Amino acid sequence: MRLVLLGPPGSGKGVQGAALSRRFSVPAVSTGELLRAGAGTDGADGDERRDVADLQARGELVPDDLVLSVINDALEAVAKGGYILDGFPRTVAQAAHSSAPPVDAAIHIELPDDVVRERIAGRDHGRKDDNPATVERRLRRYHAETEPLLDFYRRKGLLRSVDGAQPPESVTAAILRALEPDG
Ligand code: AMP
Repeated sequence: MRLVLLGPPGSGKGVQGAALSRRFSVPAVSTGELLRAGAGTDGADGDERRDVADLQARGELVPDDLVLSVINDALEAVAKGGYILDGFPRTVAQAAHSSAPPVDAAIHIELPDDVVRERIAGRDHGRKDDNPATVERRLRRYHAETEPLLDFYRRKGLLRSVDGAQPPESVTAAILRALEPDG
């Protein structure tokens, strides 16, 4: 099972990635988390590392080549049986890249912008990029650059959409139903 989770910030991709990872016994890989932990900049100087941290803090996208190398390094390190990707791809260019990992299905977790804003504002241990101005930038990036991926996967017959405005367990159940052959 090689899955991609798509959805705006705050739609629960991390939580669903963890649930699906347990369910299918495959790793969930989050490019956001890997980048926050400094992945891909081991050999880089301090300036480059700060650039990546700065892009993340501002809610801007990190360059495709860096993200592709981070995701491929991470997938090389895990079993080949499958994976759940959270946060990758973020753009059609990333998805269509020759080194992009193959995908069997793309799950779109739908959530309206006003619910995104409410949810993120209510997070107890918010991230650095959870402040209102940065959330607006992340939403703009999502609509402009990530949403075109919905059509990209729809055309391939790989897109499944679920309502993200339900309790997490219900979203997981909806994803599992959507993955059934007639889902
Ligand atoms: P996330 O944890 O998925 O919300 O990602 C947090 C931040 O990491 C994003 O706002 C981007 O700065 C960066 N990021 C994560 N994944 C990608 C990606 N696939 N392409 C570009 N930037 C990314």
